[in-house]
Amino acid sequence: MEIQYLKGVGTRRAALLQSELGIGTIEDLIHLFPTRYIDRSRVVPIAEIVPDAAYVQIQARVVRSEEKPKRLSVIVEDASGRMELVFFKGIKYVSSKLVPGAEFIFFGKPAVFNGVINIVHPEIDAVSDDARSGRMTGVYPSTEKLKNAGVTGKVMNKIMAAALAVGLPEIRETLPDYVLKGKKLVPIHYALRNIHFPESADALVKARRRLKFEELFLLQLSLLKAKFVRMRSSNGLTMDKVGDAFNRCFKSLPYELTGAQKRVIKEIRSDMQSGRQMNRLLQGDVGSGKTMVAVLSSLIAYGNGYQSCIMAPTEVLAQQHYRNICKYLAPTGVKCALLTGSTKASERRDIHEGLLDGSVGIIVGTHALIEDPVVFRNLGFVVIDEQHRFGVDQRARLWSKRQDGFLPHVLVMTATPIPRTLAMTLYGDLDVSVLDEMPPGRTPIKTMHCYEGKRSAVYKFMKEQIAAGRQIFVVYPLIFESEKMDYKNLEMGYEQIVAAFPFPPYRTAIVHGQQSSQEKGFNMDAFVAGRADIMVATSVIEVGVDVPNASVMVIESAERFGLAQLHQLRGRVGRGCEQSYCILMTDFKLSKESKRRIELMCATDNGFELAEEDMKLRGPGDLEGTQQSGLPIDLKIASIAHDGTILSEARDYASRILERDPQLTNPANALLLTALRSGRYPSRDYSVIS
Ligand code: ADP
Ligand code: MG
Repeated sequence: MEIQYLKGVGTRRAALLQSELGIGTIEDLIHLFPTRYIDRSRVVPIAEIVPDAAYVQIQARVVRSEEKPKRLSVIVEDASGRMELVFFKGIKYVSSKLVPGAEFIFFGKPAVFNGVINIVHPEIDAVSDDARSGRMTGVYPSTEKLKNAGVTGKVMNKIMAAALAVGLPEIRETLPDYVLKGKKLVPIHYALRNIHFPESADALVKARRRLKFEELFLLQLSLLKAKFVRMRSSNGLTMDKVGDAFNRCFKSLPYELTGAQKRVIKEIRSDMQSGRQMNRLLQGDVGSGKTMVAVLSSLIAYGNGYQSCIMAPTEVLAQQHYRNICKYLAPTGVKCALLTGSTKASERRDIHEGLLDGSVGIIVGTHALIEDPVVFRNLGFVVIDEQHRFGVDQRARLWSKRQDGFLPHVLVMTATPIPRTLAMTLYGDLDVSVLDEMPPGRTPIKTMHCYEGKRSAVYKFMKEQIAAGRQIFVVYPLIFESEKMDYKNLEMGYEQIVAAFPFPPYRTAIVHGQQSSQEKGFNMDAFVAGRADIMVATSVIEVGVDVPNASVMVIESAERFGLAQLHQLRGRVGRGCEQSYCILMTDFKLSKESKRRIELMCATDNGFELAEEDMKLRGPGDLEGTQQSGLPIDLKIASIAHDGTILSEARDYASRILERDPQLTNPANALLLTALRSGRYPSRDYSVIS
């Protein structure tokens, strides 16, 4: 049945429900869940109402009502005291209903006006109206247009009751019996009835658990099913040796690998041996030593006769990787090459030849690597650093670099810590490794918040640091690299710095996104080599750049950066053994959210903790680094940020089911297969896009 025929709906409201909330059918309506509940089981004596209370419910008798300019004032009383109710709309109707002596239940949010507590536009119920009073009432998402069309909270509750009466008998159980029993979940009818009209607090808990579990379980089931399919195919290259090159590099390392690095390399090695294509996400905070993991893994591929390709998101980073990797490779004799947009034609020809004849074992580069007509002799391993800057289709083009149907192993590395629950969902079918241990010997970075008024003190501190031989980053927000406004900020900032730190003796370099890559490289190099004391930059330095002697990071207009980005920027310092500092400069006026971000930054330098908080602050959809990939579905009731425990449980359970029945062909799982094919859950084959 269409919703317009439901009692209380009609054509106009039906059209609005469709356009405002996307509700077309009774079933849609039943799956519109309350976002919160109001406890209407408690009646508060008027004398006990405090001004900042949330919603309150009173049972009171009308003393008098009085029309004042533009409003109706109604005085009501109960045994404990009197108060005023105020109405601006529907004055005629209200005054005809609220006659002196009549008793009602009023429900609303207390406010203070001229020092006196009142309630504006309370809901009015008859004392005997037990459909609404005396229990928890659901509050639904709504919009201004819906409210103007008379779809108030109360009306919505009535519409929902009608929808359930008509629609519920049509809805069939969605989960197999054994799942309900095994997970102690209430049946679907019970859950839907109680999510809208809870019989009791306990019934509501059970209903929510069932619906959240179902949503997360089916989502994980769909993601994991793709993974199980991939794991059963045998299009991976088997690399069962470790090889001399690996051993030589390993033995000559100037330091001991961290426990986390060792563990991750073992995980990668076991993937490479398995005969199945590896698709692994490596998460590690800035400075956790991901490059070393990439190099040692590439050497395993080399030891088995395969070439590797390591891709960075920018030219500067590719160059830096190349320099570092060459150092690590020196004792191995493995030939490494760098291919970027600015590689000269003659050099490029040599590299192409080397890749084709196999003499180049490891190639480092940027997008140019994919776009270039590069042909490998035997590509076996691909590393994608800072994955979120690479488009999905660009990654797909990598596969064409092998023609025999086998897929190279893939390691995606990211320094954007993603909360575990989000990773399970965003990368549900990838294996995830985490470098959760920092190399030893680092002094934690001191983070401070300074308002604009402290600028001269900050400059004084910077001069002391420079005098002690340190270098300094000063970063300006450039949210949209092309916007003129932002460039003005950067240029003014640069001039301000040059004025405060004149040459000689101070040397200041500048790097931003509109410079040519040569110019950028030149300025970066000057800083890396210590020919500049201060680097004024935009967030282009955000990822990867390694300057161990830089010990101070000043972030201008820090309130304009997101948490993840602030954390990334901070990670540029603290790479040497000196005490490092991160100074967050902000305006005096800060929004509540910006303030919270700055506080969090000062309180912790653990990227995963920050990511968890960020997700709670902003919801998973807005997390930096994840907008492009987005959540695979729009969750109706569960929250990735708040239902982590249910999510893990659902994922484990889904994986246990798939282990026994990977294609879900067992009749007992028929309902699950139907649910996955409903179109709501993702069915993409992630193995070809990662
Ligand atoms: P990431 O890419 O994860 O931000 P890098 O791979 O650039 O980190 O490593 C950061 C720095 O730490 C580099 O200078 C590197 O040489 C050093 N490093 C890596 N692993 C270790 C280790 N196990 N012990 C000491 N230093 C290490
Ligand atoms: Mg790195």
